[in-house]
Amino acid sequence: MLTGICPECDAAVRFSSIPDLGYRVMCPSCRSMLIITSSHPIVLDWAFVEPIDMSIPEDDRGGPIWSG
Ligand SMILES: [Zn+2]
Repeated sequence: MLTGICPECDAAVRFSSIPDLGYRVMCPSCRSMLIITSSHPIVLDWAFVEPIDMSIPEDDRGGPIWSG
């Protein structure tokens, strides 16, 4: 039996085959969107919908700060 535990409600989420890392699944109990972070054993974590922007440009905000 391939099962993972929902981090939200501790329900067992069943799989028919070993899921791939990064595979997303919805918890049948609490409907949280989960993601596979480990496939053996199956570990589930929350999947966040917002895309993570890995290419944030750095602002050049350097310069002297004058006081007085
Ligand atoms: Zn759940």
